[in-house]
Amino acid sequence: MTASIEAVKGKGIPGAQDAAELFAHIRDLSFDGVGVSRESYGPTETACLEALVEWARRHGIAAETDPAANVVFSLPGQGSGAAVVCGSHVDSVPQGGNYDGLAGVIAGLLCLKRLKDEAVSLPHPVWVAAMRGEESAWFGKAYMGSSAILGKLRPEDLELRNKRSGRTLAEAMASVGADVDRIVAGRPMPWVEGVKAYVELHIEQGPLMVARKWPTAIVSGIRGNIRHNAVRCIGEAGHSGAVPRWLRKDAVFAVSDLLMRLDEHWRVLLERGNDLVVTAGVMGTDPAEHAVSRIPGRVDFSFEVRSESTVTLEEFYRVMRVECDAVARQRGVRFEFDRRIESAPATMDSKLVQALLDASAELGLPAERVPSGAGHDAALFANAGIPSAMIFIRNENGSHNPAEAMDLDDFMSGVELLYQALPRLG
Ligand SMILES: [Zn+2]
Repeated sequence: MTASIEAVKGKGIPGAQDAAELFAHIRDLSFDGVGVSRESYGPTETACLEALVEWARRHGIAAETDPAANVVFSLPGQGSGAAVVCGSHVDSVPQGGNYDGLAGVIAGLLCLKRLKDEAVSLPHPVWVAAMRGEESAWFGKAYMGSSAILGKLRPEDLELRNKRSGRTLAEAMASVGADVDRIVAGRPMPWVEGVKAYVELHIEQGPLMVARKWPTAIVSGIRGNIRHNAVRCIGEAGHSGAVPRWLRKDAVFAVSDLLMRLDEHWRVLLERGNDLVVTAGVMGTDPAEHAVSRIPGRVDFSFEVRSESTVTLEEFYRVMRVECDAVARQRGVRFEFDRRIESAPATMDSKLVQALLDASAELGLPAERVPSGAGHDAALFANAGIPSAMIFIRNENGSHNPAEAMDLDDFMSGVELLYQALPRLG
């Protein structure tokens, strides 16, 4: 607990000092020389959880470990009604940033402490879930902790191996005290039954809020996606000087044509108010045969479309396949697709979103909605039927890297927003 405490801003809001100390302490525990590394179900994740538990108990907050080794914090004597759960994840990617995930856990803990300090009694209990295993960087699968909580971790998931240590997920979970048999059996954690609402505060991982100058915003929905990891456009190789345009079957021109058509459809769909992002992040001719003077006969590329709306996803996918057919006809090429992979968008609960927007307006914070392009534990809770919502905090330089930069003022504004909204979330 050192240097960054002096950088405390947002001093007017109760808890700013606590927040600065906790962030600094957890960063010290997980610093790897470049960023922070909190391996899912690894010793550093455990050490960070233990530090949070130690802090909580010191402030009269109870902590209980569930059978999937997540920690659930609560205030003693809060009653036994259906709870509102705040939370996020404690793990990070290798050489990651300190705020991704941790911000949501600390925000919840600060709210519990303030409820206690101000002797506020709410009509419903508030619990804070500090979850393990959200990042896919370690085992190649995301949301392991929240999946285990909801009874949705499958036996084959537990056989996944840590990319570094080679340990299976089952072994890693057992090593931190999880009841693997219960998890394999798909039994949800006891505390999650009857939960009224799940609210996750998280840093934004895109650039929108910095551009718009919004310290906080409310997530409208979590984008789902449809992907092909490998699409192949097959044309015909030839001598670049010898084949006239009308006889060419140039795969690079064909894929370029395809992408320009998709870009135009994308623009039109945005103009009509749809949520949509499109990416072809992997693309190339075969380096073993391509040459400056050779007409490219083959291009491999990836395709990904993300949207908050299943309808928009399917509509854009259909348009993509129709345009492939058109390009194929006009340019004498053909397209081959690997397996289509999809993940469902998650809808945020409209009543919770409205409550958070109202609280934002009352506090003079932007009553603005932003889509979440990245996935979060909240998507799992929402898709399991638990009304869910998210508060985003402005953050510079993206995420999953040590340069992520969240201003403590912005964080404390988000904590204030969460705290003031709590009575309306149950
Ligand atoms: Zn995260």
